[in-house]
Order: sequence, then C-alpha cells, then structure tokens
Amino acid sequence: MGPSKLALYGGKPVRDSYLPYGRQWVTDDDINSVIKVLKGDYLTTGPLVPKFEEAIAEYVGADYAVAFSSGTSALHAACFAAEIGKGDEVIVSPITFVASANCVLYQGATPVFADIDPKTYNIDPNQIESKITSKTKAIIPVDFTGQAVDMDNIKKIADRYGLHIIEDAAHALGSEYKGRKIGSLADMTEFSFHPVKPITAGEGGVITTDNEEFYKKLQLFRSHGITKNKKDFFDSDGPWYYEQQALGYNYRITDIQCALGLNQLNHISKFLYRRRKIADRYNQAFCGMQEVNIPFEAEYSNSGWHLYILRLNMNLLQADRKDIFEALQAENIGVNVHYIPVYYHPYYKKLGYKKGLCPNAEKLYEDMITLPLFPKMTDQDVEDVIAAVKKVIGYFRKQV
Ligand SMILES: *Cc1c(COP(=O)(O)O)cnc(C)c1O
Repeated sequence: MGPSKLALYGGKPVRDSYLPYGRQWVTDDDINSVIKVLKGDYLTTGPLVPKFEEAIAEYVGADYAVAFSSGTSALHAACFAAEIGKGDEVIVSPITFVASANCVLYQGATPVFADIDPKTYNIDPNQIESKITSKTKAIIPVDFTGQAVDMDNIKKIADRYGLHIIEDAAHALGSEYKGRKIGSLADMTEFSFHPVKPITAGEGGVITTDNEEFYKKLQLFRSHGITKNKKDFFDSDGPWYYEQQALGYNYRITDIQCALGLNQLNHISKFLYRRRKIADRYNQAFCGMQEVNIPFEAEYSNSGWHLYILRLNMNLLQADRKDIFEALQAENIGVNVHYIPVYYHPYYKKLGYKKGLCPNAEKLYEDMITLPLFPKMTDQDVEDVIAAVKKVIGYFRKQV
C-alpha cells in the first residue's frame, strides 16, 4: 500500500479542522478571575500588578519583577535600564522574533548579529566574542524554543568585557539551566505573556532582576519616567507634586491582564508537563526517520518546549521546504517557520545588513519547520501531526 494522496493534490487531509502551531489554554477559573477585576475598582494599575510581579519573581527565583504591556516593551525598558544609547552596540541572535533586536534600535543603538550554534540554534558564545568591539555594551541571548542558552560561557565573556546580559526568555518561563529556573541568571530577564507563550495575560511581559537600581529604572520607564515617590524627588512643590525624571512611555500592564496572568501561573506545571510529553512523543516518532532531524537539547538545559522544530534533510527529499510546508498546511497542520533571520527583513537591509552575516542561521532558516505544540493539544491532535509528517515526507522521499 503506497502513501495516500496528498491533500495538496486533492487527496483527503489527515484532519478536517485546522490545527494551529500554538494557542492559549484559558480555563473557567482564569475567566472568573478576570470578571472579578472588571466588577472591581481598578482596571489598569491596581493591586494585581504588584501581586503578579511578586508571583513571577518568586516562581523564577528573582528578587524583583516589573510587569509591562508586552514582552517587547519590557525589552525596551531593559535596554533603557542598562543605559544602552546612541553609539552603543548590542550583540543579538539572528534567529529570533524581531523584538529582540528592535529594542536596541529603539534606544538609538546598533544590533550586532552573532551566529548561532548549529546544534542548539542558540547564540554561540564563541561568535559573541568575535563580535565584541569597544562600543559593545550588552548581549541579548534568546532561549530559543525554550532551550536555555549556554549561560556560564556567555557570562564569562560578559564579565571579561564588562557587558550587561539581557536574556530574552520569551519562550522560556519554567525552563531550566543546570537545574535552576531561568529568570535570575542574567542581569535582566524578559518573559512574554502573548497567547502562544508558556502562560498568557492576553498581552504582557515582565523583566526579572536581582538588581535594585535596574528595578527602579524599569518602574520609571514604564510610566512616562514619572515617580511619585517623595524620597526620590529632585525638587518639591506641594502635596500634588510628582516628578518626571526621564523620558519614559506608557508601557503599563492592566489589572485585567494581571488577573489572567496570575491565574495562568497556577497552571504552569501542568502546561510544562504536557508540552514536554508532546515533545517526547514527537522525538520518539521522528527519531528513526532519516529525512528529518529532531531537536537537540544541551545537557545543561531542561526546555519548556515552547516550539518544536524539525530540520529537513533536503538531500534525501525531492522537494523543497516550501513544498513540504504547503503540503502539511493542506493536511490542516498549522506548521510555521521560526524565524526569518532578523536581518533579512527589508527594514534591516535598509540599515545596511547583508546576507552572509550568519551562515549557520541562514542554513537553519532554509530547512526548518515548526510543528504544532501547545498544552491543550489532544493525543489525537499529536498523532495527526505525526501522521501528516509521515504522509508528506513519505511522498517526497527520494527513491533510491
Ligand atoms: C514573543 C516574543 C517577544 C515579544 O513579546 P511580545 O509580548 O509579543 O511583545 C520577544 N522575543 C521573542 C523571542 C518572542 O518570541
């Protein structure tokens, strides 16, 4: 019996309904916690903002947390707190969401892309070192897919050159490095609460840190650079007085979002458990297939599996990545590609970045594909993904 006809060519798809690559899992008690806020006194900054911040700080083991309207605004605030500005360079990974590099541009500084390790897909510490100049101020490593970055080696470099580390852990709430939760390893660590991320607040983000000075600057930046704290005032006028000390933004998170985020945090171990189970099942299903490579996990990392990426072995397939992508989409499997190298985007090209900058990242981009992975997937959803991959790869397998 040959493989059944691909949906791409008019065959019956593996499943009838479309399965996205990621989505939230919002429970009735999440919803009730939000309704309670809507019936109360505070919609925006109220008691739930510090409560959510304390819960996140405790969960990751950091001294402080400052919550923001998004992971992106949190990264921007971290760049401000680290005093990154015009003329400075910041080393970033090319395989990430654009926000990891845009936050450097917001501050008028220059992102410098350092290539990835071809096994972990995370920024390679040796590549970081080769990009350091007298202008380098910080490093923004990304725990891509939830896999922890090689932090001890990144720290050694940061210490040697006096650089700050801002860890982009948007994928990695609950992930561990050498048995320790990510969140207090770097100078500042950012998490995101976008619906596809480990937990959601609708939109939202946070910076965790052990540094009190950063903590104060982050709070200032979140709300127009204004402080109402009398003992921090430079001037004083009357009991109505508040003081703008820096150019900040309105990057505040609402109590509505924090209610959802706080309640979602109750589910995180269940979510992580399920994500790891699904990743195990995928690994088991695909490890024997020569045409694909399953993800590699470094021994120092315990990933929360935000994303599951297969690398296609193009020389064993009589198709390109686009054909396989389209064939899987036609089977109603919401595959994706994470990510287009940041500097491929026209905005970055216009700034002068060129192809060829990070060969390992560019090679990865050619042959990777993200499979659906989120905790609310049923066992049947998981088996559908496996069946569709086997069907499509089976069809395009080179005959020898
Ligand atoms: C999601 C994400 C962000 C930004 O988070 P938002 O909350 O969507 O602003 C930053 N970096 C990475 C790697 C992300 O995946």
